[in-house]
Amino acid sequence: MKTIAGLALGFLVALGLSPTTAAADGPLKLVAAENFYGNVAHQIGGLQVEVVSVMSNPDQDPHLFETSPAVLRQLAAARIAIYNGADYDPWMPKLLNATSKPERTVIVAADLVHKKAGDNPHLWYDPPTMPAVARALAAALEKADPDHAADYQARLATFLASLKPLNDKIAAVRKKYGGAAVTASEPVFGYMAAALGLKMRNEKFQLSIMNDTEPSARDVAAFERDLKQHKVRVMFYNKQASDKIVLHLVEIARAAKVSVVGVTELVPPGTNFQDWMLRELNDTAKALAGPSS
Ligand SMILES: [Zn+2]
Repeated sequence: MKTIAGLALGFLVALGLSPTTAAADGPLKLVAAENFYGNVAHQIGGLQVEVVSVMSNPDQDPHLFETSPAVLRQLAAARIAIYNGADYDPWMPKLLNATSKPERTVIVAADLVHKKAGDNPHLWYDPPTMPAVARALAAALEKADPDHAADYQARLATFLASLKPLNDKIAAVRKKYGGAAVTASEPVFGYMAAALGLKMRNEKFQLSIMNDTEPSARDVAAFERDLKQHKVRVMFYNKQASDKIVLHLVEIARAAKVSVVGVTELVPPGTNFQDWMLRELNDTAKALAGPSS
């Protein structure tokens, strides 16, 4: 960990790059630490921007990511970089320091919505986050490429308008199911559950799983009780992490006929941010309506 900066500089020298190498001609290069931000950047940047998302493999657990030389090379060439912050991707600020470029704009989603380390880091599930990120991306693109400012503004407006079905769905689910108790294997869906007015249980258990530590026997027993005694309507679980204890709880939920909704950290291949969120909201509404309905 401590040697990342040193490794980074060594690597740049090996590539024949200096940390201040100017961006080459061609499309503007943008690196997103996670593909939900990369996807929105692509929607706003259009053909003028070449977007690289570091975390995009749905089989990967972003909480356990370790960096690679390819990421360093991409960051060294990036005019704009965006990452989540709130300690979700601590490797990113380290690499940015190691490849510092005065003209590069760095967007930290957590800063835009006033979140910090220790807060639930799954900020992209919080409805106010993506509009703030989209505006910051458009501003950074305009600054880097003023000739296409009107294009970025137009795409920003399109993106913001495209969130309406999502927001309508959130309001509808909240109206119908607000107050229902639910549980989850991890706090991935936590902000969205709060936006839906759902009452989240077993939060201590969720933090243990997220941090890759063993949940206490007491927390596991409380979770099982919630399922077996139907104290919760729905169990959310993170499809991208397959902890043994979690898979066992999913089995218990299914046996007890508690609806199970799988959610993911990253945008699944072949879809975009809005459709992904809408699909998970539709799954949630169906699950809240009850099993086999
Ligand atoms: Zn997570």
